[in-house]
Amino acid sequence: MVGIDFSMENIKKCLCNKCAVQIESQCVRDKQKIMLLITQQDLDSPMRMDEERVPGLYCSTGMASCKDIDPKKVCKCNECSIWDQYKLVAQRYFCQNGSANISQ
Ligand code: SF4
Ligand code: SF4
Repeated sequence: MVGIDFSMENIKKCLCNKCAVQIESQCVRDKQKIMLLITQQDLDSPMRMDEERVPGLYCSTGMASCKDIDPKKVCKCNECSIWDQYKLVAQRYFCQNGSANISQ
């Protein structure tokens, strides 16, 4: 099955970090702090970016592991370049609904 790559390039494009749905989540903030530490470290660091550590790119990885997010707020996916690139059209709220369905 074709999916959206879980890559550093796509993590950088993802707008989930700026999304109101998760901006007040303590769990997400904690993950963001760890991500910042990882990006500041050398490539040979034992701490690596993995799906569990990244609070975003849910269109690739599926539902959020943080449970203190607020899906009543507005999703930003439709402003994202990956959303355009993969023509995700009616699909949003991947943190709630799971990863994107891609028809190719
Ligand atoms: S998937 Fe959508 S609703 Fe969820 S955090 Fe990302 S931008 Fe916000
Ligand atoms: S479509 Fe949504 S979940 Fe996927 S990269 Fe963009 S903002 Fe993140």
